[in-house]
Amino acid sequence: MPEKAIYNCHNHIFTHENVPNGYFPFFLVQAARIAPFRWALKNTMKAIVPFSKNDKAHRYAAFINATYRKSQEENLQVLISYYPRGTKFIILPMDMSCMGAGKVKEDIDPQHAELARLSKSEIYRDILIPFAHIEPRRPNALGRLKKLVEDDGFKGVKIYPTLGYRPDHDVLMNDIYPYMVEKNIPLLAHCSPGSVNSKDLPIEEARSLADPFNYKRVLKKFPQLRICLGHFGGIGEWRRHLNEGRAIENPTWLTKIVEMMEGGEYENLYADISYTIFNFQENVPLLKILLENPVIQSKVLFGSDFYMVESEKYSEKRFSTDLRFALGEHLFWKIANENPINYLRL
Ligand SMILES: [Zn+2]
Repeated sequence: MPEKAIYNCHNHIFTHENVPNGYFPFFLVQAARIAPFRWALKNTMKAIVPFSKNDKAHRYAAFINATYRKSQEENLQVLISYYPRGTKFIILPMDMSCMGAGKVKEDIDPQHAELARLSKSEIYRDILIPFAHIEPRRPNALGRLKKLVEDDGFKGVKIYPTLGYRPDHDVLMNDIYPYMVEKNIPLLAHCSPGSVNSKDLPIEEARSLADPFNYKRVLKKFPQLRICLGHFGGIGEWRRHLNEGRAIENPTWLTKIVEMMEGGEYENLYADISYTIFNFQENVPLLKILLENPVIQSKVLFGSDFYMVESEKYSEKRFSTDLRFALGEHLFWKIANENPINYLRL
């Protein structure tokens, strides 16, 4: 009997053409499109990054490596190569056109179309689980989603509130979520205060858009909607959780998510461990302790955030192997197989 499949629930394969020119500081996106600049840039980053505590520098370095591969398919092939045959991957496209960072070279439609092509192809058909990136401020969001689900077989929706909208935005509440409930497809929401934020809003305001408590209203109105909070609150919040005393006035996003899960009121709330666990193994012990709680144990999804976690020192293969070893077989298969199947309702 073949071994059961691993589900990696959080991956990106988009390229620099999908990233707006203002995403990196100082014309870096445009400059890095020219190979010698990219080479110089990568080496500079390599020299700086090991000494930097700045998450942004780490992310930029990995980002430059991966986004400048030529195609989504090239990134996909690297991702697949790190996991056993038969592993399944949720792929999350990115629509950064409304974040106030300028124009993107390739818009979201061709990005979705290429992902649709790959997920219908014979080679990737059984392993790709494409999600649609829905930006509620774009015209005809529902029409776009319907086409992707009904014609192209997309299996879920990704939202990214820090780009400048709340998860209870009118278009989401009135059009998108009711349709998702009807089609029985899940939501994956970016949930970390640091990372890609709207350039049009003050940083604190952009961050607060993705606050886990903002989902209470959504979960109450759509109790059947399965929602996964990506990154489990984010690496910065996990660090704050471990390094500082309990902040009653300002609980960490990790505390907020755990509280919502334990309360029992939001049965369809999930969280994935992508990036947060992968980039720094310092968080694995806390994860293991959290997973001792049976309620939390059934709500956590395995994900890596490929290619955000790529680094010279640790391959994603090494990270996922280390994680599996640290958690043990029982917990690993729970978050990497059983819970994802429940979340996706495949
Ligand atoms: Zn991600």
